[in-house]
Amino acid sequence: MVFIVTSVRLRYHGAKMHRRLAAACLLAASAWAADPPPLRLDDSVRPVRYAADLTLRPEATVFSGTIDIDVELAKPTTLIWLNAVDITIRQARFIRTRQAIPAAVEPGDANTIGLRLPAAAAAGAARLHIEYEGKISPRNSAGIFQGRNGGENYLFTQFEAIDARRAYPCFDQPNFKTPWQLTLHVPQRHTAISNAPQTLETREAGGMKKVVFGATKPLPSYLIAFAVGSFDIVDGGRAGKNRVPVRIIAPKGKGYQAKYAAEVTAPIIDRLEDYFGSPFPYDKADQVAIPLTYGFGAMENAGMVTYGQTILLSDPALDTPQRQRQYARDAAHELAHQWFGDLVTLAWWDDTWLNEAFATWMESKILAEWKPEWNSRLNDLGATFGGMRNDSLLSARRIRQPIETLNDISNAFDGITYDKGAAVIRMFESWAGEAQFQAGVRAYLNRYSFRNATVHDFLDAISSAGQPRLTQAFSTFLEQPGVPEVSVELNCSGAPRLELLQQRHLGIGAKDAAGETWQIPVCVRYQTSAGPRKECFLLDRASAEFPLRQATGCPSILTANHNASGYYETSYSADLLPKLLNDRSGFLNAAERRSLLHDLGALVDSGEAKPGDALAAVVPFAEAPERQVVAEAQALAGSVRRLVPSALLPNYYRFIRGAFGSRAAELGWTPKPDDDAETRLQRASLVPFVAVVGDDTALQREARRLADGWLRDRKNIDPDMLNAVLSTAAHSGNRALFDSLLAALNQTQDRRTRAVLINALSLFSDPMLAQDALNLLLAPDFDPRESLALLYGPLGSRPTEWLPFEFVRANYDRLVPRLPSGGDFDARTQLLAVGSAACDEAAEREFSGFFASRVAQYVGGPRAFAQRIENIHVCEARMSSETAGIAAFLEKQ
Ligand SMILES: [Zn+2]
Repeated sequence: MVFIVTSVRLRYHGAKMHRRLAAACLLAASAWAADPPPLRLDDSVRPVRYAADLTLRPEATVFSGTIDIDVELAKPTTLIWLNAVDITIRQARFIRTRQAIPAAVEPGDANTIGLRLPAAAAAGAARLHIEYEGKISPRNSAGIFQGRNGGENYLFTQFEAIDARRAYPCFDQPNFKTPWQLTLHVPQRHTAISNAPQTLETREAGGMKKVVFGATKPLPSYLIAFAVGSFDIVDGGRAGKNRVPVRIIAPKGKGYQAKYAAEVTAPIIDRLEDYFGSPFPYDKADQVAIPLTYGFGAMENAGMVTYGQTILLSDPALDTPQRQRQYARDAAHELAHQWFGDLVTLAWWDDTWLNEAFATWMESKILAEWKPEWNSRLNDLGATFGGMRNDSLLSARRIRQPIETLNDISNAFDGITYDKGAAVIRMFESWAGEAQFQAGVRAYLNRYSFRNATVHDFLDAISSAGQPRLTQAFSTFLEQPGVPEVSVELNCSGAPRLELLQQRHLGIGAKDAAGETWQIPVCVRYQTSAGPRKECFLLDRASAEFPLRQATGCPSILTANHNASGYYETSYSADLLPKLLNDRSGFLNAAERRSLLHDLGALVDSGEAKPGDALAAVVPFAEAPERQVVAEAQALAGSVRRLVPSALLPNYYRFIRGAFGSRAAELGWTPKPDDDAETRLQRASLVPFVAVVGDDTALQREARRLADGWLRDRKNIDPDMLNAVLSTAAHSGNRALFDSLLAALNQTQDRRTRAVLINALSLFSDPMLAQDALNLLLAPDFDPRESLALLYGPLGSRPTEWLPFEFVRANYDRLVPRLPSGGDFDARTQLLAVGSAACDEAAEREFSGFFASRVAQYVGGPRAFAQRIENIHVCEARMSSETAGIAAFLEKQ
C-alpha cells in the first residue's frame, strides 16, 4: 500500500470508528456465550477455499451476498469464529457429506461473530454456507465503498489491513491464503473487474447480469478486490515472460488520461521480473483508478492494483513530471508487492514492514535502473531523513513492533515501517553486496511462493546468500527503536585509525535510559595519495577503533557514510567536519553532500551543533547543481523559521533571499522552452520557497498577476507551476482572490485541479480568509475525502497556524460525523496534526486538554497523541536552546 502524507509529515491510518456489531440473526443465538478470540483467530479452523456471490448496485448503500467457505477442522468443534463488521447474517449452515446443519449466530465482539453448531463436529473437511447483507459506504474508503465521477456511481473496495470482514464473513488474517472465486451480479450496463479474469457473463432479470471470475491463486482476504461501474478500459500492452495483459481502467470518459500509465506500466513489470527472476505471478495486471481515496494512495491487490485517480490519470494537457514520476514510483511499489506481499505474504501484521519497507526500497531500485536521470537515490534521502526525524522521538515505534491491539496494526503503516525500513534494507544490501542480496531475495521468493513467511525466513535467505552476520546485525535495527548517531574521529598518531562511537540520536533535552547499541555497517571513504579508498566496518559495540588498512598516510578527507547508504546520523570531529563542508574537490558525491547537510541540522536539533554554524553552511549548498541538495538547504533554512524572533524576521527574509534568491529569480515562474525536467522540478520547489519563506514581494506580485490571468482564462501558467503560483498568490492574497479561487473550485471537476485549488484556499495568511477556508470543511457540497487538506494548510504559517486547532475544538461535534470513518485509517487520529502548531506549555495544555480524553477512542490514537506531545516538547526545547544562536546569526544578515 502507498500512504498519503500530509504537508506536516504526518502519516495516517486508521480507524475502526464504529466497530458496532451488526451481526443480527434470524436464528436464536446460543445461551452459552463464549468469549471471542482476542485479536487473532487461531488455527483450529482453517479456510481452504472461498466462493462468494454478491449482488452489487453502485447507487445502493447495502448489498446482499452468499459465501461458501471450505474449511478444515483440526479438532472436534462446536463454535467457529469468523471476522465480520457491519454484516447481518440471514442464514448460516454447516455442510458435511451433503448434510446441511443450521448454525446459530453468536455475537462476538466488534470484529467477530461465532457460528455455533448444535453438536460438536468431528475434525476434518466441511463447508460453511452463509447468506448475509452488508453495507456500502458512500464516503469512506474501507470495505466496499462508492466513488462518483461525472454523475455516475461506481463501487470499489479497500480491504487492507482488516476490512475484508466488511464485505464477507471470513477468516480475515494474512496467514490464511486460499483460492477465492467471486461471482458478481451487477447492472447490465456496468463492467465488473476483480483479481482474476472473467470466465462467464450471462444476462439476468431486472436489468442485471451475472459475472463469474476464475478462482484466484492462493491469496489472503486483504488482497481481494473488485470494482463495478462504467469504465473506460485502455490497453497497456503485454508484460513479462507470460505476456500478461496490462490494462488501465478509468472512470467513463477519462480513458484519454491513461496515456502515460499505458506506456510505462508494462516496462516496470518487465524490470521487476528481471530482478526477481520469476514471472509476474498473476494472469493479468489491471491498474484501476478510484475517483477519491482516503488514507491510502494505492493498493497492491493481486492482479488488480487500485490508485487514487490523481496518481494514475492525468489530462495530457495538464500533466507534469511530478505526476508522472509519482505514478511510476507508486506503480513500481504496488507491482513489486505482487511478488513481495502477494506471492509471498507476511504471516502476521508484525511483519508489515517486510511488505512495505521492501516495496519502498524496490520502487527506487527499479526506477534508478530504468530512469537514472531521475536520481531516485538522491530523492530517497528526503524520505530517509523524514524517517530519522520520526525515529529520534523517544516514543518512536520499532520497525518490527509487536501487534498487541488493533491500534498496533494501524500504527504499523507509518514512516518508520516505510522509510526507515527501506533505508535499513538499502544499508544491508550495500553491506552484503547487491548480487548476494538479490540471490537471497530470489531464494526467499522461490521457497515461499504462494505461502506465508516471516522476517526470520527472509533474513535466513539473505544471510545464506552471503554475509552470515547479517541476521544478527539487521535485527538490531528491527527490534529496537531509534536512529544511531555515530561520532567519528580520525587518529593519525601512528598508523591511521578511525575511532567510532555510537549512541541513540535524540532531540535536545530528551534522555534515553536504555543505552541501546546497534550493529552498524559503517562504510567509509577517504582520500589517500594514491586516490580514494573505501573500507567497511561493523560497529557492534558502543565504541571501537578500526585501522584504515588502505591508508598510505593520514587521509586528507574522509566521509563516514559512503554513498549516504547508512542509516545513522554522523557527528564528525572538529577537524574532519570543516574539510567536508568546504570540499570543492568533488570528493563528496551529491548524496553525501545532501546527507552531510542533514547531519548538521540533526546535530543542531540534538544540541551538539550551533544553529548559526548550520545556517552559515546553508549558503554554499544553496548553489548546488542538484535540486535535491538545494532542497536540503531549503529544509534546513526553513526549519528555523518558527524560532526566529519577530523583530528579526526582516533579517531572516534577507538571509533566505541572499542564499536562494538569485537562482529563484533566474528561474522565474515561467518555464523556458529548453528547460529539462530537473530544471522544471527545481523551479516548482525553489521559486515559491523564496517568494513565501523569503518574503520576496516581487515574486509574490508576479504570482498574483499570473494567478489572476489564469482565473480569467485558465491560460498562461504551465501545469508544473500551477500549484506553486496559486499557493504563493494565496499566501499574500485578499478576499477577491479567495472568492475567485472558490468559484474556480466550484466550476471544475478535474480532480488534480481541484486538489491544487483546495491547497491554495488553505494557505491565505489573512486570518479571516484562513477561517473561511476552514469553514468549507463543514460545507455540505465538499467531500471530506478531498477537503480535509484544508485543515493542514495553515500549519506552517505564523499568523494562522493555531486556527486549525481552534476550528477543530469549536466544531468537533459537527466535523467528526462528516469524516471518513471505519477502516484502518482513522480520520480523527489525523486531526491530531493540528497540534504541530503548538510550541509552548500553554498551547500544549490546550491541545492536551481537548484531545487527551478522546484519543483512546481513535484507532492508532494513543501513540499518535504521545508523539505529538513529544514533538511539542522538542519544539519548546529548541525554542529555548536555539533562539539566541539564530538571533545572533541573523543580526549579522
Ligand atoms: Zn505498499
